[in-house]
Amino acid sequence: MSVAGQLYVITAPSGTGKTTIIRRLLGQLENVDFSVSHTTRSPRQREVPGQDYFFVGKAEFNTMVESGAFVEWARVHGNYYGTSKFMINRSLEQGRDLLLDIDIQGAINIKRHYPEAVYIMIAPPSFHELKARLTGRGSEAPESLRLRLANARQEIEFFNEFDYMIINQEVDRALMEILSIFTAERLRVSHCATKVEDLLLHWDEAI
Ligand code: 5GP
Repeated sequence: MSVAGQLYVITAPSGTGKTTIIRRLLGQLENVDFSVSHTTRSPRQREVPGQDYFFVGKAEFNTMVESGAFVEWARVHGNYYGTSKFMINRSLEQGRDLLLDIDIQGAINIKRHYPEAVYIMIAPPSFHELKARLTGRGSEAPESLRLRLANARQEIEFFNEFDYMIINQEVDRALMEILSIFTAERLRVSHCATKVEDLLLHWDEAI
């Protein structure tokens, strides 16, 4: 019996440090793919098409929506983002874990299709701290800052939908905590069944 991969969904308000954590997480974990979303937003500096996102035009995105190519899609900060069915099925069917970095609307939609996925929320230690981090980026106009802080509050209010909550006070610690989640989830009996069956199968060789 082959074991399907496990889906992990990570959601965090803008400015929480999620991108840094996920990048480091992927560098340390084996057998996990990152779900590359489609988006209509323009690439940022250093973003690699097909690696960070599939950057597409509005028309192409709409065609994908209409053909049912997405498990979920949402408008976030004025742009469209979607997770393709292809992305999810490919990894899980190959027995590889898959990490989704999506917003709160996406996480709630995914939960309808994959209630057994692992849902992780990353939150800032305080709204003071979040404001300081967003201001520190130097890229947020006052109106955008207010909007992101308002959105952050709304997103965190959905904490009950998640299995795990990581407070990102300090990146190294947050990373260690998420790695612990992966370690524990991978040790679940449901994920180790094949190994145990194999162990039992060779009992008679040992006696
Ligand atoms: P950014 O443009 O900063 O990369 O991402 C903006 C937001 O869109 C982030 O919260 C990110 O998690 C979210 N996002 C990225 N891909 C998807 C997706 O496929 N679906 C949804 N719903 N949100 C996404």
